[in-house]
Formats: sequence, C-alpha cells, structure tokens
Amino acid sequence: MNETIIDVVILGSGPAGLQAAIHAARAKADVLVLGREQKSSLAKAHVENYCCLGRMDGEVLLQEGRRQAEASGARFLTEDVVETRKEPGGLFRLKTESGTHVLTRSLILAMGIARNKLGVAREKELLGRGVSYCVDCDAGFYRGEKVVVAGGESAALSGALTLLLYASEVHLVADRFQVTDTLASQVRSSGVVLHEGRKVKEILGADQVTGLMLDDGTKIDAAGLFIELGAKGALELASVLGVALDPETMKFIQTDKKQATSVPGVWAAGDITGPPWQVAKAVGEGCVAGLEAASFAKKLR
Ligand SMILES: Cc1cc2nc3c(=O)[nH]c(=O)nc-3n(C[C@H](O)[C@H](O)[C@H](O)COP(=O)(O)OP(=O)(O)OC[C@H]3O[C@@H](n4cnc5c(N)ncnc54)[C@H](O)[C@@H]3O)c2cc1C
Repeated sequence: MNETIIDVVILGSGPAGLQAAIHAARAKADVLVLGREQKSSLAKAHVENYCCLGRMDGEVLLQEGRRQAEASGARFLTEDVVETRKEPGGLFRLKTESGTHVLTRSLILAMGIARNKLGVAREKELLGRGVSYCVDCDAGFYRGEKVVVAGGESAALSGALTLLLYASEVHLVADRFQVTDTLASQVRSSGVVLHEGRKVKEILGADQVTGLMLDDGTKIDAAGLFIELGAKGALELASVLGVALDPETMKFIQTDKKQATSVPGVWAAGDITGPPWQVAKAVGEGCVAGLEAASFAKKLR
C-alpha cells in the first residue's frame, strides 16, 4: 500500500507554527502540526505588546490559535519529532517520539529556541570536558564509558536510547517523564538505569567530569553528562537536513524574505530564525512560511 504523503508538516505548535498552519490549511494544503502548545515559550507569558488584543494570557492565545488552525483543517499530533531525514524525490521523512513515521512534501521549522540549562555549579566550566548538550554530536566520544543523561522529555529519553549503542552504562536522571507512553515504556524496558524523581545536585571532577551527585545523595561515576532538557533540539534536527545557519551567530536558521531556508522544500519561522523573540514576528513569519510551503507542496501533488 502506498504511504500517505502530507503536503505541509509543521514542527512546532507555538505562535509561528499555529499561524503557518492556519494559512497553509486555508490555502487548501493538507497540514499536520507536531509539538506541544504547553511547551511553547508563550505558554507562561502574559503579552501586552501584541497588536489589537490588549493584555493577553499566552495560554489563552495558544488555545485559540489551535482552535483556529483545526477549524481551518489542520491536524495535530501532540508529539515531538526525534529524527528528520531527506528521502528520494525531494520528500522528507520524520520520526516522532512514539516511533510514528511521517512523509511530507514540505516542512516548516517552528521549534522556537531552547533556553534550558541545568543550572548547577560548574556546568559552564566543564562544557566540552564531559558536559554536552548534544547526544547526536558527542555520543561517539563516549564509547565504552559510563554516561548520564539529565532530562525527562523526548530529547533526554531518545538520547539515552541512542547512547546505549555507544556507552557501557547509561543512567537517566529525570524528576518526571513528559513523553508518550510508548517512548517511556521503550526506555523502561531498555538497559538504561533510571533515577526517576531525582535531580542532579552536583557535577563532580576538577578538569573533567568524573561523576555526579543526585539530590538524594546517590553518587554516579560517569565520564559524561548529557544535558538534554526539552524537546529534540531544533538545530540538531535542522542540521541533519543540511539547513544553513545564520553565519554571524551560527545559532539560528537562515532564511530569505519568504522564510525559505537553504534547502528546497524547507521553511523556518519564529524564534528559531533569531531575535527579536516576539509573538508579532513569529506570527508574521509563520504566515509567510505557511503560504509559501502550501503553494510549493500543491504543485508537487
Ligand atoms: C517568560 C516569557 C515572556 C514573554 N513575553 C512576551 C511578550 O510579552 N510579548 C511577545 O511578543 N513575546 C513574548 N515572549 C516571547 C514569545 O513567547 C516567543 O517569541 C514566541 O512564543 C515564539 O514563538 P515560536 O512559535 O517561534 O516558538 P515557541 O512558542 O517557543 O514554540 C515552539 C514549539 O516548538 C515545539 N517543538 C520544539 N521542539 C520540537 C520537536 N523536536 N518536535 C516537535 N515540536 C517541537 C514546542 O513543543 C512548541 O510547540 C515571551 C517569552 C517568555 C519565555
């Protein structure tokens, strides 16, 4: 049986992704939105500077945005994407945290920016000396070593599974899991040593990580600490596709005025394209990206 090909898949359901979904769906493209509204930067914000609405609660804006997108015809899957890749014929394949595969003609990257640090002493000093924020980049350096992953969301759990392929022992420290049941049970039945309900209290080691102390006094000997708080990193997912970053900062996705990235079929919108980090910019860019991606994808049907 032929696999369904979606016109436009949007990674992220913050204001950029929701606005892109509204415009793409109203342009009669088949649209799927991935991600979690409650993980949007807007979820905890009170906004006073967004035109025409007065003071608004971010959560309310997000709920209304999703309602509008659904009413326009967009579908939602409340899961994080953990893998992206190019397929022959200009298509893109994504894998979500529960293992669902999605095939699409176009992609809009609207995953916002990660603001997540663990916030423990020496985290910054030991960066690159045992502390890492990127399993995909650094897993290979820890072949045969003991490692710890800190985090309870998709990046941490999928990262811990990846590290099992390299490290001799993988520990996962999470105050709670915030992932699908499928991913949680996959990790529970894997060889990952779980420390649920715990937090990292201290990183041990003078010039190099040698271990960790948890908040209940447990000591774990380890050569590496992977801090993977939040969803799978936006830039990691984008760089696998070959999307160019802004050459000045190398932190944001570079786009042209139509929100197109360096990879045909891939657009980007919102915080992920750089400052100012504002709802007004996110929805403006989302609108343009949604219209462009819809028009591109419909021509490929
Ligand atoms: C405390 C605070 C107060 C703020 N106050 C204001 C204000 O007053 N006015 C203003 O204009 N702006 C304000 N902002 C900024 C504003 O919230 C952001 O600019 C805006 O939310 C950016 O939208 P976005 O859609 O680009 O990203 P976000 O809203 O951050 O949404 C990102 C989305 O991507 C999803 N995602 C991430 N990774 C993945 C993945 N691997 N797979 C699938 N989905 C993924 C997340 O689940 C989320 O749905 C504030 C921000 C904060 C933190």
